[in-house]
Amino acid sequence: MTTRPPVEDLSPQQAIEELAALAAALDRANRAYHQADAPEISDAEYDELKRRNAAIEARFPGLKRPDSPSEQVGAAPSETFAKVRHARPLYSLENAFAETDVPEFVDRVRRFLNLPADAPLAFTAEPKIDGLSLSLRYEAGRLVSAATRADGEVGENVTPNARTIPDIPARLSGAPEILEVRGECYMSHADFAALNARQAEAGARTFANPRNAAAGSLRQLDPSITAARPLRFFAYAWGELSAPLADTQTAAIARLAALGFATNPLMATCTSTEEMLARYRAIEAQRATLGYDIDGVVYKVDRLDLQARLGFRSTTPRWALAHKFSAERASTRLEAIDIQVGRTGALSPVARLLPVTVGGVVVQNATLHNADYIAGRDSKGNPIREGRDIRVGDWVTVFRAGDVIPKIEDVDLSRRPADSVPYRFPDTCPVCESDVVREPGEAVHYCTGNLICAAQAVEKLKHFVSRGAFDIEGLGAKAIEAFFTEGWIREPADIFTLEARHGADLRGRDRWGEKSAGNLFAAIEARRRIPLDRLIYALGIRHAGETAARIVARHYGSWGRFAAAMQAARDHEGAEWAELNDISGVGETLAGSLVDYFHEPANRDAVARLVAELAIGDVAAPAASGSPIAGKTVVFTGTLERMTRAEAKARAEALGAKVAGSVSARTDYVVAGPGAGSKEKAARELGVAILSEEDWLALIG
Ligand code: AMP
Ligand code: ZN
Repeated sequence: MTTRPPVEDLSPQQAIEELAALAAALDRANRAYHQADAPEISDAEYDELKRRNAAIEARFPGLKRPDSPSEQVGAAPSETFAKVRHARPLYSLENAFAETDVPEFVDRVRRFLNLPADAPLAFTAEPKIDGLSLSLRYEAGRLVSAATRADGEVGENVTPNARTIPDIPARLSGAPEILEVRGECYMSHADFAALNARQAEAGARTFANPRNAAAGSLRQLDPSITAARPLRFFAYAWGELSAPLADTQTAAIARLAALGFATNPLMATCTSTEEMLARYRAIEAQRATLGYDIDGVVYKVDRLDLQARLGFRSTTPRWALAHKFSAERASTRLEAIDIQVGRTGALSPVARLLPVTVGGVVVQNATLHNADYIAGRDSKGNPIREGRDIRVGDWVTVFRAGDVIPKIEDVDLSRRPADSVPYRFPDTCPVCESDVVREPGEAVHYCTGNLICAAQAVEKLKHFVSRGAFDIEGLGAKAIEAFFTEGWIREPADIFTLEARHGADLRGRDRWGEKSAGNLFAAIEARRRIPLDRLIYALGIRHAGETAARIVARHYGSWGRFAAAMQAARDHEGAEWAELNDISGVGETLAGSLVDYFHEPANRDAVARLVAELAIGDVAAPAASGSPIAGKTVVFTGTLERMTRAEAKARAEALGAKVAGSVSARTDYVVAGPGAGSKEKAARELGVAILSEEDWLALIG
């Protein structure tokens, strides 16, 4: 999305193509969202597509499509529910993201009504509830139908389901003969968490956020399922009426409240733009503690006669504006800082937050990186966040983009509790109580308890059975934790003696039983044969990632040669030490880490016990004469998309090629990615073969 040209630079032809693509993408997103209750793109992405579409349409009004997404509200109703034609269509709202959009909106309203700047003009401001809208029709005080919005014209009949929602009265007294009440059906955070826990327990699907949970719960063909789901409803609007409710929005909502509907307590009447913005900020500040999701503030012209004069554009009223909160950020309270100990002993601080929905996902944990980050400085000691530190009890801004782990971006000092104290990073490990050290020049603190530290042991075991390592099916993180606590598995070798020691126990155990225990033991047996590179990676030695493990394994070929070399190089000197350091792709850090690991007697013993259980497969020596690039000289240029430069170089060298930095007559291949420049040109002039990344991968297999 970021690479699209600015709208001003589009040619009409490009605009036509992009409008078509946007219409298709938005239609697809609408269907996934409304019909399957399973969004495929985030709200932020959706809004971005809509904005882009609107911007292109504004620049090329003549190219606007008959099926333009800006004319549509949601998707057509799904096929499974009976249809209800709304007596008056349900509207959508014009969105605003910037504060400056608010005075512009007010000015537009004034101009439309021809009201001078000093004539009074009141607006209501209220939270925009992030649920799904529902229209309830009452005739003679009885609820006769309930319908979802769907495309705004025709909705789905969910009357039996709506009757199960406690906030929705079945009968009203003193209501107009015909009264359509509109509002938002939603689920509270607490009910959402409890529902997901129950679903997970029952092995049923869980929901990404409270809104999906509400939609999935309301749109059930079996109303008894809806009845078991804790749905809520806020009334904020109306449709067809046989008699007016009041003269103003404020009074009309008060009337609905008097009739027995839940209305939002944060709604306020504002008489100036400043008051509207102040209300917006006040509501945003309370967002995390409301207990339900809101995604903005809605302003509405208060006088209903003025609303009538302002009327509607195609699907949005001219008298209302939805001022949205930022999609990627939210402020919430930092409840605690926990320290997690990783397999290498690294201590990572994790923020525990008051749950808040950011970009459609409920966030309750965020990374705090390290002690310096919490203290408000970077690893060089320079201030970050202008030096503001982060304390338990602070209100913080959480940032989340795409799938990355949420981060704490900033802290609001104006909301800091008076009795707060600076956070003290622990000087002992929270799990084993060993001392914590920080190596010079490193930002990370490490637990020195290595072998006695249960946290490190468990994390090492989890790593040992993970995907790129032993990958033992049925032995995931949860099972490892349980077996560790039990004392059944304390080190990798124990995995391979588990059946002999505890086979009978496990077969008879709750939630395991004969079959899954049998499967687990079979999966373990299948992994007794393991290639050398996977074994090295599985040990979880610092700096020895998958690529490094492969390089080293290819060099030594067999466990025997590898183990002997590590032993011989233990003092960081001599021929074997030099050989290890000379392997292309092995730096001094990795070499030292490998050798030191095997120098440690406890590690050596544990590895010996493990190796006794295994049949370790040799790894083909590199530069095998069968390699198509053995002895060739290769130059990489431009951007590689499938791997980093470093990895590409390591792989080429492992296959016996020489990687050079510049092109000459002796170069055999130039691998050119996008953005390649002078080197590709030189290759062309010298007649050197030029390969794309794809060609290259095909060549090396
Ligand atoms: P949008 O879906 O972004 O076009 O926003 C319009 C929708 O916001 C309406 O259809 C309602 O479902 C929803 N909404 C939530 N809270 C309110 C509110 N307080 N007033 C009006 N609409 C609201
Ligand atoms: Zn420890």
